[in-house]
Amino acid sequence: MPLQLVTVPCLTDNYAYLIHDAATGQTAVIDVPEPGPILAALDAHQWRLTDILITHHHDDHIQGVDTLRARTGAMVLGAAADAHRLPRLDLALTEADSFSVGSEFARVIDVPGHTIGHIAFHFPQSHLLFSADSLMAGGCGRLFEGTARQMHASLQKLAALPPDTLVCSGHEYTASNLRFAATLEPGNPRLISRIAEVTDKRAKGIPTVPVLLEEELATNPYLRAHLPALKTAVGLPDADDVTVFAEIRARKDKF
Ligand code: ZN
Ligand code: FE
Repeated sequence: MPLQLVTVPCLTDNYAYLIHDAATGQTAVIDVPEPGPILAALDAHQWRLTDILITHHHDDHIQGVDTLRARTGAMVLGAAADAHRLPRLDLALTEADSFSVGSEFARVIDVPGHTIGHIAFHFPQSHLLFSADSLMAGGCGRLFEGTARQMHASLQKLAALPPDTLVCSGHEYTASNLRFAATLEPGNPRLISRIAEVTDKRAKGIPTVPVLLEEELATNPYLRAHLPALKTAVGLPDADDVTVFAEIRARKDKF
């Protein structure tokens, strides 16, 4: 049976996620922007937290970890490379390490770019990817520590996962990401219909995450830098993919 997934809005525009394995009762949270909404969601489902998975060191993803650990006794897992700037880790992970939540195994994917030690969690059996601020709905995280080349390579790894993977990212930035995407591909029909869908969801206060990877491949400009249409849109018809990716990211920073 696949993991049950619960999206937990936190702070102003962050998301944490709960995954629950009904067979064993194990429950994990991915990122802890604040403990309150996560404890409330656990309570509402009568789930006991067993694991806390951390994607990267930014405060808005880890500042509730110590409180949540103290309240639940859950194990904390995060990147070995960033252990010096993460809450204390019970399990330090490197790329391709696997661990399990209940009966499901997860794989760790290094996705440097937004930060150097950023990792993503892939649960292949349940088709779930927790990408936080690497691949985001309609966009990608800002390059605070890594280079465009690193982020491009990170996103290429995620883009190669099965297209029916559900991408669970860290923020509600989708509307603005897609507004920017439309400046590059105003005639992309998938993008036009996605914008309508997202506008409708936001008007109703519904999260725009998670989203199928297939939808991202069709509309997210950072996964489309190899396409002639995108290269032409940024005035670099003959440039390599990384150069085009870097130009798209730089334009978004000024958008
Ligand atoms: Zn971040
Ligand atoms: Fe963030």
